Amino acid sequence: MGKGIISASLAKLLQARGYSVTIQKLDPYINVDPGTLNPYEHGECYVTLDGAETDLDLGHYERFLNVPTSQANNVTTGRIYQSVINKERKGDYLGKTVQVIPHITDEIKRRIKLVSSGNKYEIVITEIGGTVGDIESLPYIESVRQLKWELGTQNCIVIHLTLVPYLSASGESKTKPTQHSVKELLEAGIQPDILVLRTERNLTDDTKRKVALFCNVEESAVIESVDVSTIYEVPIKMLDQKLDQTVLRKLALPIEKEPPLTEWRNFLSRLKNPKHHIKVGLIGKYVELPDAYKSISESFIHSGAMNDCDVNVEYIHSEDINDKNINEKLNGLNGILVAPGFGSRGVEGKISTVKFARENNIPFLGICLGMQCAVIEFARNVLKLEGANSTEIDHKTKFPVIDLMEEQKSIIDKGGTMRLGGYKCIISKDSRTYEAYGKTEIVERHRHRYEFNDKYLEEFRKNGMIPVGINPESNLVEIMEIPDHKWFIGVQFHPEYSSTVINPHPLFVSFVKACITE
Ligand code: GLN
Repeated sequence: MGKGIISASLAKLLQARGYSVTIQKLDPYINVDPGTLNPYEHGECYVTLDGAETDLDLGHYERFLNVPTSQANNVTTGRIYQSVINKERKGDYLGKTVQVIPHITDEIKRRIKLVSSGNKYEIVITEIGGTVGDIESLPYIESVRQLKWELGTQNCIVIHLTLVPYLSASGESKTKPTQHSVKELLEAGIQPDILVLRTERNLTDDTKRKVALFCNVEESAVIESVDVSTIYEVPIKMLDQKLDQTVLRKLALPIEKEPPLTEWRNFLSRLKNPKHHIKVGLIGKYVELPDAYKSISESFIHSGAMNDCDVNVEYIHSEDINDKNINEKLNGLNGILVAPGFGSRGVEGKISTVKFARENNIPFLGICLGMQCAVIEFARNVLKLEGANSTEIDHKTKFPVIDLMEEQKSIIDKGGTMRLGGYKCIISKDSRTYEAYGKTEIVERHRHRYEFNDKYLEEFRKNGMIPVGINPESNLVEIMEIPDHKWFIGVQFHPEYSSTVINPHPLFVSFVKACITE
């Protein structure tokens, strides 16, 4: 539906007006975090600097706001119940029956307030996942009702996003679902202050007036969110309809002059008027659901605009690739990105892809598992270590060039136990990676268990695959590069999580530049 984009757009506008803003996502499912979810279920798992595995909407928040989020910005029902149950076991509620109201709702409210503890932010936007009417959402809706009552109407407002379907047979936009959804909210004791209507076509003033009248919302607080060609246009659309001003007015906060959004508009104009066109293949095993690679595709949008280049990302299933069909599958690509992933499915296709990119001098970026595949390919085909592999894929391999770290070996729990979040890395000066970053010390986000096996370091170095990025604390290899190739870099971390509109990730910027041929 686009709650994440609307939240991020509103936050962007408030930020541009000088307010400190953050966004929080409440997810009504029982998993403690989305880290253990298959990407097919819920799209990409986004990782924050402080190592939280979170909903992909947090990625949008960071890309729009250019401010890092943290563990506190994503809370699930699982986490809420976990803390309430832990407290119950500790005896914190001794003598009391622990119930959804007030204990679960109190914990939800506590989590909402926690984000701005220490008055870090003037405005917190809390996005509630799911749909009004879902059984799972009820405690959240009740918490919002209570919060609004406790904080007062000038300190807490409710924005409700609804769908206005367009029926082509009758040529009409239907507002009934909106009216019903608002009615349901009213039954729960919540009068929305602002309505944002998601729609395929522009709505007439008449339609908006009707919605205002039937939903008890001021006319100026009925905002339409019409389909646009890029999500990055949504803040401008919201600005045009004064969503930010309506919010500030309702919160009784000062409204200074309109923000110019110069950088944002520059970005949009470069995005829409590209001088170059490239096609990059994204080789992964979750390609049926492009949301599984959300941060990667957004990184290409940011870095493409920076290069005045339209990047057409072609999603290619790694399971469909083998040495026989590879020429045909990867034909016509200006660059190749081998995606992150877990488990053995599709790995051989990724390894064949790396070989193709390496031998044909096609710009290559390997991310996490993609970097590990590059290492495996090099071990097998250049170092001639037959059967070299990662122990994640083949735990009996004779040449475990990618292996588990000692401290990971004893870990049984799957949730939140990987190497997660920001780690430092020192880059060698004489490398393409250094050229891209323009500095030697970086911090990048991780989400993996397996690592490059140092035992093979010298052999790789001698044969032309160079570890150009090393973690200064653990000495783990973070970046591998082939200097004799046009552009070949594999990174153990995830650059895609930290690319934003205002700060496109340097590796993506450099990669896209290398792919431009004309
Ligand atoms: N499966 C690999 C590991 O755990 C890579 C993970 C990833 O690509 N994020 O090390």
